[in-house]
Amino acid sequence: MFPLTEENKHVAQLLFSTGSCPRCIFRFCGVDLHAPYKLSYKELLYELQKFLETEKGELILEVPNPPPKKIRLQELEDRINNLSQNGEGRVSSTEDGNIASKTSNLNVCNVCLGILQEFCEKEFIKKVCQKVEASGFEFTNLVFSVSFPPQLSVREHAAWLLVKQEMGKQNLSLGRNDIVQLKEAYKWITHPLFSEELGVPVDGKTCNMPRLFQASQKQTVSIH
Ligand SMILES: [Zn+2]
Repeated sequence: MFPLTEENKHVAQLLFSTGSCPRCIFRFCGVDLHAPYKLSYKELLYELQKFLETEKGELILEVPNPPPKKIRLQELEDRINNLSQNGEGRVSSTEDGNIASKTSNLNVCNVCLGILQEFCEKEFIKKVCQKVEASGFEFTNLVFSVSFPPQLSVREHAAWLLVKQEMGKQNLSLGRNDIVQLKEAYKWITHPLFSEELGVPVDGKTCNMPRLFQASQKQTVSIH
């Protein structure tokens, strides 16, 4: 199910070494299958690590400047385990309804700022759905709207330039439409989760509302 191939390896290494998350790496490698994005973050990180692993059992992170550094696999596995444990603790520690992250150990993606990390995982969606259900409102469908911070487009463009440059070295080109848009990937992951959790169809429209999830019949549920 892991969608990257040998020809994606340079780009994947480059993005991973600069702090991009597995799902953003998929996007910039043009993976347009929905299924790989829906795997859990822990699973994705593990699969990516295996994919980038060298024969010597080391993960070489090629950073043009500063010089390349190596991370031992054991250290990386420890980081993943810590992330998993912290992830579980994070969700259970938000009993006051505040969905904000309470961990500082999560390596937040430098491109999506965590939107394709914890903010699309099942546990987070469950929290949002609890907010919707707690409203006591009856509805038969859901319009899900989300807007992202403006700085994301700057980060997106910077990452695109970086990948374009890397692909240029391999005599490959990268157009703006060759990558999967953040909001598309987010929809692929979250809409089925919302439908499953709430038992109603989810409308895929997007509009510019500041982090509001809007239910039908004009009721809004804000998340913070
Ligand atoms: Zn990301």
